[in-house]
Amino acid sequence: MSISKSHVGGKDNPLMQYVLNHSLREHPVLKSLRLRTMQDSWNFMMVPCEQAQFMANLAKLIQAKKALEIGVYTGYNTLNMALSLPEDGAVVACDISEEYTNIGKPFWKEAGVEHKIDLRIQPALQTLDELLSSGQAETFDFVFIDADKVNYDNYYEKSLLLLRKGGIVAIDNVLWNGRVLNPSPNDADTVAIDKLNKKLHRDIRVTLSMLTVGDGLTLAVKL
Ligand code: SAM
Ligand code: CA
Repeated sequence: MSISKSHVGGKDNPLMQYVLNHSLREHPVLKSLRLRTMQDSWNFMMVPCEQAQFMANLAKLIQAKKALEIGVYTGYNTLNMALSLPEDGAVVACDISEEYTNIGKPFWKEAGVEHKIDLRIQPALQTLDELLSSGQAETFDFVFIDADKVNYDNYYEKSLLLLRKGGIVAIDNVLWNGRVLNPSPNDADTVAIDKLNKKLHRDIRVTLSMLTVGDGLTLAVKL
């Protein structure tokens, strides 16, 4: 069970097409990167463009300057964030794959925002620890968690430390194609997502919304 994403399942959905036709304002280089990403066999991993636009809107709303992307893939949302941040803004982008991120880099350059993107190729937990130990706790405005699901809770806890009060952590795939309805004990990804969803429901350190956009997106605002 899933809610259709614009580029996965949503292509044949007239209502999704209406949403896109009446709201999408995709930067031309973002569009080029999306079309390039669609040639890759892992393209279902890309964040849906309508969700990316929503997150850019949120970042603007809170006047974000410093963002963190945990899981970059071809960098569609990294580019989206870099475009939405002010000239002195920055995105720390975490991934372990040069193969995927190299697809995005020329587009970041073409859009003229590569100077805002600090790509770190190593396990994201290591990058988050380095950010914390270099005194960057409470300095980030916006975090997008979208890498390996078994580490979601670790990413969440470290993100909360890195965020300023009023900062937002956005957690992707919280519905995991409907598998959260009936998590199999052998499915570590689903178990991890469901466990974090349950923990967040009770977490008094944040305000909370679970949105049915894309594959489910939780927004937690640090109190
Ligand atoms: N946010 C991306 C976008 O805008 O399209 C999609 C990210 S994709 C769903 C997940 C990414 O997480 C992959 O590129 C994968 O290489 C990366 N990844 C997996 N394990 C990781 C880890 N331990 N640390 C950092 N990145 C990881
Ligand atoms: Ca995702």
